[in-house]
Amino acid sequence: MRKLILLCFLLLSTLAISQQVQQYDLVLEGGRVMDPETGLDAVRNIGIRDGRIIRIAADPLSGKRVIHAAGLAVAPGFIDLHQHGQEFASQRVKAFDGVTTALEMEIGVPDLAQFMKFKEGHSIIHYGTTASHCAARALVFGAPIPPETFASDAAVTEVLPKSGPATNDPATPEQIQKIEDRLREELDAGALGVGMGIQYTPGATRLEVIDMFRLAAERKLPVYTHMRSFGRIEPGSAIEATEEVIGAAAISGASLHIVHVNSTCLRDAIECISLVAGARARGLDVTTEAYPYVAGMTAINSAVFSPGWREKQGIDYGNLVLPDTGEHLTKERFDELHNSSKSQPVLIFSNTQEVVDSVIVNPLVMIASDGAPGHPRNAGTYSRVLAQYVREKKSLTLMEALRKMTLMPAQMLERSTPAAKRKGRLQEGADADITVFDPQRITDSATFEKPMEPSVGVHYLVVGGTVLIDDGKLVPDVYPGQAIVGPGKITR
Ligand SMILES: [Zn+2]
Repeated sequence: MRKLILLCFLLLSTLAISQQVQQYDLVLEGGRVMDPETGLDAVRNIGIRDGRIIRIAADPLSGKRVIHAAGLAVAPGFIDLHQHGQEFASQRVKAFDGVTTALEMEIGVPDLAQFMKFKEGHSIIHYGTTASHCAARALVFGAPIPPETFASDAAVTEVLPKSGPATNDPATPEQIQKIEDRLREELDAGALGVGMGIQYTPGATRLEVIDMFRLAAERKLPVYTHMRSFGRIEPGSAIEATEEVIGAAAISGASLHIVHVNSTCLRDAIECISLVAGARARGLDVTTEAYPYVAGMTAINSAVFSPGWREKQGIDYGNLVLPDTGEHLTKERFDELHNSSKSQPVLIFSNTQEVVDSVIVNPLVMIASDGAPGHPRNAGTYSRVLAQYVREKKSLTLMEALRKMTLMPAQMLERSTPAAKRKGRLQEGADADITVFDPQRITDSATFEKPMEPSVGVHYLVVGGTVLIDDGKLVPDVYPGQAIVGPGKITR
């Protein structure tokens, strides 16, 4: 009997000790911990429990699992504000590129509730979206965009309305009312703002654009926009397009995020950024982003290719390339594909390396991929910036690059949800979305020929406390991605 009591005592005390020692679910040990907000850049241990960073310390920490991160950079998970491809194959390459949150903010999705249903429990990284002006307009004009394009197993993902009356005709006051009603429904359902692809709906008048900004301002939510036009020809230059949306932000009070300033403003990108800087200096809330490639990509049957596109961009048919085959287009082939009802992506080689280089390093510019299958930006954007600008050209410090990929997009997201205050930071209390990578080796592998080749150099990726990439391999059958949603229905 005494022996039994002693045994029980021993067992209980061993349990108590092991509980005390195993404080954390996961410990990242001995990595170079970098936080762009506080400036922390030091070897630290990180203790994670219940999806949150609980402790960052120089002292040893113990956990149920300990990952040795010596020699690796430990950074907040990258936040991509501009990701069209939401299916598994795209999410997989985003994860290898260090991305823990990928949001469709530019165009938005046709049906937010349906999108959330598709994603819940099926997403390996965090997701969310704006309310889509393009889709609302298409719906009101009787040419709705099918929501299935955002299913996890969807084959085609970047869906833009085909050029036609729904994109090219002005809306009547009744139609504008209906577009607004639809956008309000989507905001009620948890959209993070209003997404506008103005160049894809050239029939939208200046007043229609202002009305959409007013609607966003009424909900205190931002507008994310692909602007009305590119190039230098007036009227209709990229400078004018930038003035239009900055004007709408000033008039309405809505926050404004201009997407891919590189591919819209092209040779005038630095001028466009100076307009953003000027607006900010006057107290307006205007931000922008870019991706590190000389080519863009969009749907060939969209209104981007309305007559005049060659003159506006200063390019010709041969600068358009089909991603699957590498075929350079001719006039005949362009006409055939542009007039087709089938949405097919086409690469547009219209920018120079000098412009891209100057845009990426500008302190006002966040990194965002505009990712979709067919373009290497889907898989390689973040690693490419770290490899080319931090390691090779040394035109950005590692901390500056991380700020563009983590803190700046998180701060942008704070306009939509206070939950974003826990993202983009490596601090106690932050969400445990963490990228552990080798700064000496991280490199993009995706090319225009092989656009879905995953990047190399991310050793571990933690999404909401769950290890998704483990020792360089994707862990199968875990789906830690959570929805990021806006304030939803407002009750007055
Ligand atoms: Zn765009």
